[in-house]
Amino acid sequence: MASPVGHTLAALIGYAATVNCWKSKPEYGTLAMYVLAANLPDIDFLPGIFLGDPGRFHHGVTHSIGAAILFGVIVWIVQRIRTQRAVYMAMALSALYGSHLLIDWMTADYRPPFGSPLLWPFSMERYHFPVSIFINIERKAFLSLPTILHNLYAMVIEISLLTPILAGVGYIASRTRFTNPQKIKTEKFSHIPFK
Ligand SMILES: [Zn+2]
Repeated sequence: MASPVGHTLAALIGYAATVNCWKSKPEYGTLAMYVLAANLPDIDFLPGIFLGDPGRFHHGVTHSIGAAILFGVIVWIVQRIRTQRAVYMAMALSALYGSHLLIDWMTADYRPPFGSPLLWPFSMERYHFPVSIFINIERKAFLSLPTILHNLYAMVIEISLLTPILAGVGYIASRTRFTNPQKIKTEKFSHIPFK
């Protein structure tokens, strides 16, 4: 598993790509939903925490493409009642849920059962990328110094790899007319001389 830092950075990348960041007011509600969706598959820690074994159900069916689609359908139904942006939000949040699967898929996994059942409900076979891009978060002796240092190092790797992507997506979004109405406005009237 990767850390919430990595998954939250994925949410920020999604936010920079889809929301008009150049508005004077950030959409905190949307940002919060993006962060929640990108971290949601790890909700499978909760039943294990109640039973005194946090990892017992981890990397189960919540870490599957089927769960990402199901989550999108639930978002669509709930949003349809409240807003016109139902399809947009359902697709965005489902994709961010999927970003969690992608990052975990590329994260080192040393605990059985290895990988995630990505094709649930059609198959419970577990999948893991042959090369680990991110370092695992260690849960054994969670508060010991070696584990803390290991997990901090894992987060530094996540930040080092994902922050440049965030900066790149933010830059491209800032150059795109669709996401920068202020720029459109300026360019549209740039031929009119000041009086
Ligand atoms: Zn996970």
